[in-house]
Amino acid sequence: MATNQEEQQNQAGRHQEVGHKSLLQSDALYQYILETSVYPREPEAMKELRELTAKHPWNIMTTSADEGQFLNMLLKLINAKNTMEIGVYTGYSLLATALALPDDGKILAMDINRDNYELGLPVIEKAGVAHKIDFREGPALPVLDLMIEDGKYHGSFDFIFVDADKDNYLNYHKRLIEMVKVGGVIGYDNTLWNGSVVAPPDAPLRKYVRYYRDFVLELNKALAADPRIEICQLPVGDGITICRRII
Ligand code: SAM
Ligand code: CA
Repeated sequence: MATNQEEQQNQAGRHQEVGHKSLLQSDALYQYILETSVYPREPEAMKELRELTAKHPWNIMTTSADEGQFLNMLLKLINAKNTMEIGVYTGYSLLATALALPDDGKILAMDINRDNYELGLPVIEKAGVAHKIDFREGPALPVLDLMIEDGKYHGSFDFIFVDADKDNYLNYHKRLIEMVKVGGVIGYDNTLWNGSVVAPPDAPLRKYVRYYRDFVLELNKALAADPRIEICQLPVGDGITICRRII
């Protein structure tokens, strides 16, 4: 049982903002994770990019440092070489990926906004990993359609990170499941959507949270029912669902 004082601290510190960096109900515990295990091991370039991104007006979109650390570890564990990222923003998850890949590793990175990618690019270049990145500006879906038509990308990706327009995740999934290797991994980000997946129907949600929530709910159900993948829902960041293609 929590003491009154602990409860008060919890309430005061409870993450209220959409897109907050963690779903943990204790700020102190999250801070502990960052300060003990994440920041001391964060590569210098990732720190620089994180600090640069913090000054940007849309910084709420960035991948958190603990999730960046997780992605970097996951990519190494699966020996990823050929990867894709949908939704780059200033490139924090992209850099976490680029640093994890071997020197001849590749990331096909897509975003409708090139300016934000270019904001972080000097840091990525300085880290010596920009040569691994093939950035395409524009909506991802038509690019995926062309790649599928082409045929040669079938089953070719070790890892795909999806962190863009939530209303298209199922459209992405239909295509990406063909493009990831059997044994490869797709990570869908923000699958707990700031906890709104369990909000009661009358909860006062921001307009965009309410709008995307239905898509996230639908995605989560579809992933859980998809026999082509094994899944693991992790409460890291805003929730990430790891999908391993099995057939
Ligand atoms: N992974 C990024 C990071 O670590 O900072 C955060 C990505 S941010 C949450 C979502 C990004 O998706 C935005 O930069 C946005 O421009 C991009 N986006 C939105 N719709 C898109 C689409 N249809 N195709 C590609 N990118 C899209
Ligand atoms: Ca995200």
